[in-house]
Amino acid sequence: PEVVNKIAAGEIIISPANALKELIENSIDAGATKIDVTVQNNGFKLLQISDNGSGIAKDDFPILCHRFTTSKISSFSDLSNIQSFGFRGEALSSISHIAHLSLITKRNDNKDGDLAWKAVYEMGELLPSSVKPSAGNQGTIISITDLFYNTPSRLKSLNQKEEYHKILDCLGKYSVNNHGIGFTLKKADESKMALIIKSTTPVLDRIRSIFGSSIANDLIAFEIKDIDELVEELGFVSCKGLVSNLNYANNSNRKAAKPVFFINNRLIDCEPLKRAVYQIYANYLPRGAPRPFVYLNVCLKPDHIDVNVHPTKKEVGFLNEEEIVTFISDKLGELLSKQDS
Ligand code: ADP
Ligand code: MG
Repeated sequence: PEVVNKIAAGEIIISPANALKELIENSIDAGATKIDVTVQNNGFKLLQISDNGSGIAKDDFPILCHRFTTSKISSFSDLSNIQSFGFRGEALSSISHIAHLSLITKRNDNKDGDLAWKAVYEMGELLPSSVKPSAGNQGTIISITDLFYNTPSRLKSLNQKEEYHKILDCLGKYSVNNHGIGFTLKKADESKMALIIKSTTPVLDRIRSIFGSSIANDLIAFEIKDIDELVEELGFVSCKGLVSNLNYANNSNRKAAKPVFFINNRLIDCEPLKRAVYQIYANYLPRGAPRPFVYLNVCLKPDHIDVNVHPTKKEVGFLNEEEIVTFISDKLGELLSKQDS
């Protein structure tokens, strides 16, 4: 089983940024309003995430990094009604099989006393002697060190510098989709923060910090909500975001940016939506115009989403994909045509 666990882990956690994505989602699920990330050697030596969320119960320590341990599904029927990001209970287990994992946590309900507790894991197992009271604030600090130390081929296949950019990119995108949560990124050996997003920073300013003014200056809000019949028929709930207005193509200094798609607050790739959105813009712009910037958070009925399409949850499948994609891009076309006239 050790080998199986290690192989499975290597498919789920494929890079530091991908580990970070799982950890950010856990912090958000825990109700955090502040998420601070520290990296050393581009996340390979150290990837640390500190949050002010609910904390973890000491009773849960022994099983926390076991495969399929999750506090997010308590019964089978829950499976079709999951609102939170994670729920396969594989992230912490996977990480602890390909890195050293330790945590310090303090619950918000004081049920483990007025102290924080520390725990260290190896290969999915808690080291019982590591559990000790510790100084700490409410919330959880998870420290991942020496990522991929026991999978040298994976380590070799990754480019150090690129991985740092992916970490920055991932944190930036989650900050755009989670206004109300403050985010920071710091390199352990530098005194200056690499990214500071305050909890009060509005979405547009977040986009400006992450993607630059040339993108933030030409955006309009896009929102579809309360389409009751579609919820019943297709499972579509809502869609909200910010997209390039038609003036954007006149700005020759504009930076390129790929679309940013979330489905039910999960950062994902969605090729069909990307294609449809680009197609809509192409109706209004000259050939060869730069790509628009598109940030959308699409909400669907949770039981219509299948996150198990891709081991890293990078892509998700959902029911009525074609109809929903067409519906969203048609609405986007209506918005752009108003601007065009
Ligand atoms: P999943 O998110 O699919 O439940 P994970 O392996 O990502 O599985 O996490 C396992 C469990 O650990 C979670 O269900 C949650 O109970 C707990 N957990 C992980 N990170 C945190 C955190 N930052 N704050 C509170 N609880 C956490
Ligand atoms: Mg998770």
